[in-house]
Amino acid sequence: MTIHAANFRELRLDNLSRDFGTHNAVKDVSLTIKKGEFIALLGPSGCGKSTTLNLIAGLLPATGGGIWLDDRRIDPLRPEERGFGMVFQNYALFPHMSVKRNIGFGLKMRGVQKSEIERRVGEAAALVRLQGQTEKLPGQLSGGQQQRVAIARAIVVEPPLVLMDEPLSNLDAKLRLEMRAEIRRIHNTLGATTIYVTHDQEEALSLADRIVVMRDGQVRQVGGPEDLFSRPDHLDVAEFMGFRNKVAGRVASVEGEHATVTVGDAKVVGRVRGTVAPGGQAWLAIRPEDLHPAAAGGAGLKASVVSTEFRGREFVGFSRMADGTDLSFLAHDRIAPGGEVTLAADPDRVLVFGGAA
Ligand code: ATP
Repeated sequence: MTIHAANFRELRLDNLSRDFGTHNAVKDVSLTIKKGEFIALLGPSGCGKSTTLNLIAGLLPATGGGIWLDDRRIDPLRPEERGFGMVFQNYALFPHMSVKRNIGFGLKMRGVQKSEIERRVGEAAALVRLQGQTEKLPGQLSGGQQQRVAIARAIVVEPPLVLMDEPLSNLDAKLRLEMRAEIRRIHNTLGATTIYVTHDQEEALSLADRIVVMRDGQVRQVGGPEDLFSRPDHLDVAEFMGFRNKVAGRVASVEGEHATVTVGDAKVVGRVRGTVAPGGQAWLAIRPEDLHPAAAGGAGLKASVVSTEFRGREFVGFSRMADGTDLSFLAHDRIAPGGEVTLAADPDRVLVFGGAA
């Protein structure tokens, strides 16, 4: 069997589309992924991430566009001819087979010699830190260990490209963190190329070299983690990257990279994203962790506190402005419900997007 991905330089999605009936699940997605990159496909549920991954894997035929490995078109090829490793949410290990046999299954199917299978399974088990567990059945392992078997099974065939669809979603918070680091370590060790689907922005930020934010089947923005975190191009991308407070206002003035926006009696300064014109309507986008009660007599957005929750070091406050806009913020002290607060943020932490309210 020919493994087409063996020595590729780049994988290219060229106006890739997939319809289900009249529904465009993936619309004209174009993206170039370089060998060695760790790419996260990020977006809310239903935005087309899994469909995109399944198209790359060959589990689903495209209804438009193509997939290229360098100058070879691969979308007509069967999944096994593409030679990509896959780790999915339901990692579906064979319950009656030992860890060792589960990991070695793909090699056996490829007719690899027994002694070679032994050696490579041993190496893969060591890479995911499962030495000493290989005689066990999957049912005798924890969720995290089973997940690692699934990863070992995918990487043992040394795929040049690994596709992962929410592989950590069944794990508890602590295991997720451990496995996250493990996945990145394995990627680095193997020098592999990884495409990783997640709806968790923190996971994408911590793992990926580049993040592809999707919405309604389309790519909204592609960028490095720092870039997307502080410079989202669109309001919806900003919201998805944690700028959860959205406040409607009117642009009073624009000074270079900053704009002053009037919200009721308050004036808020923020960094301009996109096109913002004086007199025009605008949205402010602010992360809850960047919005704090102003010092006594200070200016800011006025709101009435609905509740506060203790989060260990600080309190998260939930409040509502007179026009009904909800604002979440961070405070050092608990504030009683019904109390009035004036909330302010560092102008560099506030984004201003043009557009109607
Ligand atoms: P999630 O994070 O919830 O898995 P996603 O971003 O991966 O979401 P997809 O699974 O790619 O989203 O689905 C994209 C859209 O296509 C959704 O609206 C979904 O309902 C639809 N869809 C996916 N698979 C099918 C199918 N086999 N038949 C019909 N519609 C489908």
